[in-house]
Amino acid sequence: MPEIPPDLPRDPLDFYDLAAQLSDEEREVRASVARLVDERVIPGIRVHFENQSFPRELIPELAALGVLGASLEGYGCAGLNPVSYGLICQELERGDSALRSFVSVQGSLSMYAIHRFGSELQRARYLPRMAAGEVIGCFGLTEPQGGSDPANMQTTARRRGGSWVLNGSKMWITNGSIADLCVLWARSEEGIRGFLVEKGTPGFSATELRNKFSLRASVTSALFLDEVVVPEENRLPGAAGLKAPLTCLDEARFGIVFGVVGAAQACFAAALDYSRHRELFGRPLAANQAIQIRLADMCRKITASQLLALQLGRLKDAGAVSPAQVSLAKWNNCRAAIEVARDARDLLGGAGISAEQVPIRHALNLESVITYEGTETIHQLALGRALTGISAF
Ligand SMILES: Cc1cc2nc3c(=O)[nH]c(=O)nc-3n(C[C@H](O)[C@H](O)[C@H](O)COP(=O)(O)OP(=O)(O)OC[C@H]3O[C@@H](n4cnc5c(N)ncnc54)[C@H](O)[C@@H]3O)c2cc1C
Repeated sequence: MPEIPPDLPRDPLDFYDLAAQLSDEEREVRASVARLVDERVIPGIRVHFENQSFPRELIPELAALGVLGASLEGYGCAGLNPVSYGLICQELERGDSALRSFVSVQGSLSMYAIHRFGSELQRARYLPRMAAGEVIGCFGLTEPQGGSDPANMQTTARRRGGSWVLNGSKMWITNGSIADLCVLWARSEEGIRGFLVEKGTPGFSATELRNKFSLRASVTSALFLDEVVVPEENRLPGAAGLKAPLTCLDEARFGIVFGVVGAAQACFAAALDYSRHRELFGRPLAANQAIQIRLADMCRKITASQLLALQLGRLKDAGAVSPAQVSLAKWNNCRAAIEVARDARDLLGGAGISAEQVPIRHALNLESVITYEGTETIHQLALGRALTGISAF
């Protein structure tokens, strides 16, 4: 193999040297999460994926690193800037999308909803314990009849005295069966409202969905509400209408934009390594033009995704990010990552379908990531609406 010319960056996973654009704090946050992922996630995640189990043993370690609700201020949260939070997601998803999904749902969906729309009492009661990983949250928005159209919500909330009575069901809820607290969205006579439903509330139940080929190391559940009574003090007072849950989703999508770069990096690294070492027709696989073009294409997709993520993070830090900008980045980066993962899987030949290699696990996971938090089509339509002013939904 010819040596890489000295004028080229040494790190193919950071081809434009974006590490140099990060602050010391951002670099430190990334390095500490990377260490956890290398030492504690990667060695065991394959078995969790095969057994369909979530690595709960890692929750205290994630909490100790401050990654739960990392971008929130106060209440025991780390108050990190958006790029630091994004880099946390990137490193976690380099291990497995299940870890990033857990952190997204805990921090960007459940904790964010309470932080942004909750009462002072609700914040003080739940957020410190959620940041410490002692209370696990889930976010119940999607329903069986169609996640892309949440305005068609069928779950109802009816006032009864000083309480609310909830009825309905939710589908595909991350963390559902392991959650102590559910941020649940329901339709009342006054419009869509958010409620905090604690585990064990009579009539509330969660069933784990175990028939998945994707995100197998993440818990996904269906939720059922049968005459569930919650007090008025468990309603999120600041949440009125669908805009509230959609605002939370925008936070989580931001994490995905960075996260999927990590999954793609893991697959690219595997493809680079394999193509350098695999000997076919008397030479390394990487000596073929067709292989180099594919590797170059992976590098291009990852580099473009990294640049998009970093700029999105800087815009968010400046308070100048729009939902359509998040949509474009979620769409682009998920599409790029899944293409890299699928191509890396193919480039590894038969070994590519083995659990010993990471691309197939990431490719399968990314089938969920490209679907949840708004499918690719929904983000294309959101961007189309922003460009034309016409809703085509
Ligand atoms: C592993 C996993 C975890 C999840 N975790 C959560 C969670 O924690 N909380 C939560 O609330 N939800 C969660 N979801 C749900 C997720 O957000 C939804 O699956 C997603 O929004 C899509 O909804 P749907 O599955 O009902 O598909 P549908 O809405 O039925 O969409 C089906 C297809 O139709 C397309 N489509 C829809 N509308 C249009 C249109 N107007 N024009 C053209 N095409 C269209 C879609 O792009 C898609 O391809 C999770 C999903 C998965 C798979």
